[in-house]
Amino acid sequence: MKHHLTSSVIGSYPIHIDTMRLMNAYFSQQTSSWDDFITQAVQDMTTAGITYVSDGQTRDPFIQLFTRKLGGCRIRDRTEVVGPVEFTEPITLPDQQLTKTILPPHTKLIGVLTGPFTLAKSCVDFFYHDEEQLCFAFAEALHHEADLLQHHVDLLSIDEPFFSNEMPPYAADLIGMITNRLSCPTRLHVCGDVSSIIPHLLDQPVDMLSHEFKASPFLLKAFQDYSCTKQMCVGAVRSDDPRVEPVEEIVTHIKRALDVFGPQVVQIAPDCGQRLLPRDTAFEKLKNLAAAGERLNGR
Ligand SMILES: [Zn+2]
Repeated sequence: MKHHLTSSVIGSYPIHIDTMRLMNAYFSQQTSSWDDFITQAVQDMTTAGITYVSDGQTRDPFIQLFTRKLGGCRIRDRTEVVGPVEFTEPITLPDQQLTKTILPPHTKLIGVLTGPFTLAKSCVDFFYHDEEQLCFAFAEALHHEADLLQHHVDLLSIDEPFFSNEMPPYAADLIGMITNRLSCPTRLHVCGDVSSIIPHLLDQPVDMLSHEFKASPFLLKAFQDYSCTKQMCVGAVRSDDPRVEPVEEIVTHIKRALDVFGPQVVQIAPDCGQRLLPRDTAFEKLKNLAAAGERLNGR
């Protein structure tokens, strides 16, 4: 049977940042130095054959990437919320715009937002003293970023790893605040063990769900008990293990997912961001992932 799977990434990609070179660039006022890091990440992803690529999220870890540019936040060891959280300037948009200029034809762009719940859980709150209020303040700020990104990206992915530890009763309102009235398709990525929150995940106002099915293959069995109304992005190579999975192994894994979800499987990806892997390992994993997708698509 022929499939129409697209290959994608979750977000981050490991690029070795040469701090000496950055310092030199800073002192010589070359502000475009970061462009090289983005270009390296994007070129690796596209050379590997991935269809939906990100900007690599090389600039900062995925919390600071957002809180560094939001009003009301200051970065210490962790981000501290010291005033009302406010959107003050585009956050990831400039990097996404650059990424778009270097994408080969037929390659698509993913915008990636760290979700409001994960941001709130990762900060020290000296202002709201109320987790729900802080979550909605982040969600409102992220909506502004999503509103800008929707005109540039082909898919907007919201990364909420903390949902696997705790899914608040207002989760769908939070996510809806970001995705409401967006014109681009949306994806919710939740890694970790999501087996106990599947019905809640299926209720989220997004088009696609993304989970770590390779490290946690028992999730396939857990999803079998529900009728899946969402498109699925299947984690098919591990992000926490440097072993490069052979193409055949990835194909077998995706076939198991196809048995469970049928045509709802539209996308394959690594289990999570690849930031912690060596660069050559991350590249080889993406290459085999893309090749597995091509084989299942009958090309
Ligand atoms: Zn993840």
